[in-house]
Formats: sequence, structure tokens, C-alpha cells
Amino acid sequence: MSVKDTLMARSGGRCELCGSEKELSVLEVQPSDGSAEKSILVCRVCREQIEDPSEMDPNHWHCLNESMWSTEPAVQVTAYRLLKRLAPTEGWAQDLLDMLYLEPEVQAWAEAEEQGVPEREPTRDSNGTILQEGDSVTIIKDLDVKGAGFTAKRGTVVKNIHLTDNPEQIEGRVNGVKIVLLSKFLKKA
Ligand SMILES: [Zn+2]
Repeated sequence: MSVKDTLMARSGGRCELCGSEKELSVLEVQPSDGSAEKSILVCRVCREQIEDPSEMDPNHWHCLNESMWSTEPAVQVTAYRLLKRLAPTEGWAQDLLDMLYLEPEVQAWAEAEEQGVPEREPTRDSNGTILQEGDSVTIIKDLDVKGAGFTAKRGTVVKNIHLTDNPEQIEGRVNGVKIVLLSKFLKKA
């Protein structure tokens, strides 16, 4: 059975947010593995507004008043994110958000990065300050650079650093050579 068939059966052939029976499609609730548990069935109206926040029509979303009580975590997560989006301008949305209780693991999902970007540990310097791509840092102790045959001196400023997949390491140019530096020996400049 396809994911859509599973969702059609689960929802009784209705948009799981607003109840519409028109133009239904599967929306993966990120971060999603594509399974039915991590997806919801939505109509075109709901999908367009979810995918393009600039198209949000607050009046449409009073439907969340009902759908946020769904027993499906994927629906709860979507309702939570939409209410969060609406709450700054819509008092009723904030009221619903205040009433919405999510199980801890569902809450964690709701607050996880959207669009399937895996959560990554931030890269921090020796003081615990988060380093960003392109930052400048100062080296806080003399470091032997293996393979390059020189010492990166304490106090050297490394400009325009490049983050790596490993939060303990960054890349930067010292003496014109691109090297890997341990973030614990750096301080944001
Ligand atoms: Zn809908």
C-alpha cells in the first residue's frame, strides 16, 4: 500500500488539517523518512500556504482549532508549527498554542529544523562562542601544523574560516596554507 493510500485510509479521504476532500496530496513533515507516520494528507489550499509562508491566510487556519487535537503526531507537529507562525499576529493562534500539549518526543520533532536539515552541533570556540562560516578567529596557543612544517603562532588571526562537518574542526588559511584547526584552540576575533 502506498503512503498516500495509507493516509487516505487514516484520514477518511480528507485533508488532515482542514477536512477538505479536494486535491489531496502527501506532505512530508520534516525531518521525515517518507513514511506515513512522518507525513500528512493535505489539500492544495493547505499545502500552498504551508510551503509559502507569504501566502498565509489566517482565516483559513481556524481549522487548526480542531485538527490540533488529532492523535497523529505528524498532524500535531504541523499544527504546532503553523500556530507558531501565526501567533505573532493572531491572538487566537497564541491561545491555541498555549492549550496544545505535545508529548516530549513530539515536541522535539515540532521544534526540529525544518526542511530535513539534520541538526548539527554548532562549532564553538574556546569560550563556547558559536562560530559561523566566514568568521575571523585568533589562535590562542602555538600549534604545530602537521605536514606543513610550520607552527601556527598564538595570536595569529585566521580570516574567513570554513566550517566542517565536525564541530571540533574548522578550516582556514595560515601562512597561505589551508589547514584544519581545532576549534578549542581558537577565539572568535
Ligand atoms: Zn486543507
